[in-house]
Amino acid sequence: MENFNALQKILSTPQSICIITHKNPDGDAVGSTLALQLGLQQLGHKVTSIVPNDFPEFLKWVPQQEHILRYNKSKSECANAIQDANLIFTLDFNDFSRCGDVAEEFKKTKADFVMIDHHQQPAKYAKYTYSDSNMGSTCEMIYHFFDQLNILHVLNKNIATCIYLGIMTDTGSFRFPATTNITHQVIAKLIEAGANNTEIHQQTFDVNSFERMQLLGVALKNLNVISEQKTAYIHLNKEELNAHNYQKGDTEGFVNYALSLQGIVFAVIFIESLDEDLIKISFRSKGEVDVNLFARKYFNGGGHKNAAGGRSTQNLSETISFFKEKLSLHQF
Ligand code: 5GP
Ligand code: MN
Repeated sequence: MENFNALQKILSTPQSICIITHKNPDGDAVGSTLALQLGLQQLGHKVTSIVPNDFPEFLKWVPQQEHILRYNKSKSECANAIQDANLIFTLDFNDFSRCGDVAEEFKKTKADFVMIDHHQQPAKYAKYTYSDSNMGSTCEMIYHFFDQLNILHVLNKNIATCIYLGIMTDTGSFRFPATTNITHQVIAKLIEAGANNTEIHQQTFDVNSFERMQLLGVALKNLNVISEQKTAYIHLNKEELNAHNYQKGDTEGFVNYALSLQGIVFAVIFIESLDEDLIKISFRSKGEVDVNLFARKYFNGGGHKNAAGGRSTQNLSETISFFKEKLSLHQF
């Protein structure tokens, strides 16, 4: 991190700190936010954590998650915390556009920003930037950040659990290429500090509703293969979501079924949004197929080489046609 020594010096005396993560927070976003909050609080800092909107039910077991403020629910409380802060940590995103309306509040602050993130092409808004796209998760970076600050002694069961969660979810349970020997060494330290690997997996993954399983059935029936392009895609429309009492997070991981088909290197899921006039798209790939570039180029999105997101304001069938047209320009 540039200016690391200066940041370390600032953090050696109590500060007023805000931590903010991206919209539609995932396990890595929630885990890194809480781990950092709990660690900094132990050092005597005043810390408020903010998410732009709520996170899915399957993350509601996470220690201390009930203290995170939802910007869309308590705007003035969040605005006050941001104005009160002299340091704002932004976690697990590389550009203000990823955190929605909260960014408006940043225009009024004189606080210095600290970015900790593993997405490609980081924006340059932070005085202190710790950006590393080789990292599998922001949670792993939080561990290394604590290590660099010489404060690994703050690790306890709750913090270890939060860090474990984000590493687990962002590495696809330790299988994506960004999972390294160092990642496993970090995991060993987290288990030593009290993280219960079995419980964390069960509480996160073994909590499916019957409706979600049925919706997965619909998604799998809607699976299409374009063999020339080694591509598979899934679509879900509003009616299908509503018929299965769709809850936030229910479609998490569906796209991986498309990628699990033999010979497929590029997988996509198109999901009609229930509350906005758009199609949300998730891209996944294997090996050198770069979905970050694809999502940026055609779908106003981005992410990582093997996992990215984007959106389209055309309707579902137009979006899929446009996708097929652009896909045909590529050979994997
Ligand atoms: P997901 O498909 O699970 O929503 O997102 C996959 C990855 O791409 C995540 O790391 C997420 O943060 C990132 N991502 C999703 N949507 C966008 C987007 O619109 N822009 C950028 N830059 N990244 C995105
Ligand atoms: Mn992440």
